[in-house]
Amino acid sequence: YLPRILSIGDTLTGFGGAAMILQDVTKFRLLDDAKTNLVGTVSHELKTPLTSLRMAVYLLLEENFGKLTAAQKDLLETARDDADRLLRILNDILDLSRIESGIASLNRREVAVVALLDDMAKEMKAITDAAGQRIEVLIAEGVAETVSVDPDRLRHVFINLLANASKYSPEGSVITLYAQPGGEGVVRFGVRDRGPGIPDESQPYVFEKFYRVPGQTRKGAGLGLTIAREIVVEHGGAIGCSSKVGEGSDFHFLIPVSEAAVGRKN
Ligand code: ADP
Repeated sequence: YLPRILSIGDTLTGFGGAAMILQDVTKFRLLDDAKTNLVGTVSHELKTPLTSLRMAVYLLLEENFGKLTAAQKDLLETARDDADRLLRILNDILDLSRIESGIASLNRREVAVVALLDDMAKEMKAITDAAGQRIEVLIAEGVAETVSVDPDRLRHVFINLLANASKYSPEGSVITLYAQPGGEGVVRFGVRDRGPGIPDESQPYVFEKFYRVPGQTRKGAGLGLTIAREIVVEHGGAIGCSSKVGEGSDFHFLIPVSEAAVGRKN
């Protein structure tokens, strides 16, 4: 049997006789890259007018140009909240397209695990206090003291997971931020909440772009977990979720302690 050199457009028979046609996938890749670039450019272009619009609303609300009636204030507050939300979505889209296009390379440095988690808990305090929630930090024994990561990018992962835990959990609940040994040369970080949980059938999709659990009433664009996954993967790690409806969710990710540990067998 002599293998035949296949070319684009050739028909192959295999897998129980089903015919397949070889396709030039570079075309799709280029198209995908173009789409990523377009989305990035459009978002960038939208950001400038949105920023000035937002600024105008803020100035009006500060009553710099005269006193406002209650109805005017109400309308402007709605406009302010929507402008803020739109800006968050645009920033998420820009972050994602930067990561996807591979422009943003990692700026690794040694970071102490304990300090990292403490900082994250402190940074989230205003949000969790406002929601009447509490964050507890648990560092398991045997966890590596430091990890070599891009602190700004990793911070983004924690903030996205903690903000979700707070957003989707009830008032008065506790959010646990933890670090455990994740095998040799690996740290397992996680955020556990006592919120509504995620139905089994939705769990495989939560990290997909723009996916939101059906019936979700809280506002959001469905990009936070996609960004978290991309950043973790950039660090050579992996992210996952385990959740039970009515009990809560646990989002966890593995991070190799150093670049050299990436791909090392545990
Ligand atoms: P967003 O929160 O903006 O919708 P995400 O990508 O962060 O986008 O999350 C995707 C979806 O996963 C959310 O819309 C929500 O339905 C679900 N989800 C994420 N985190 C939690 C959580 N801690 N508890 C319950 N549901 C969650």
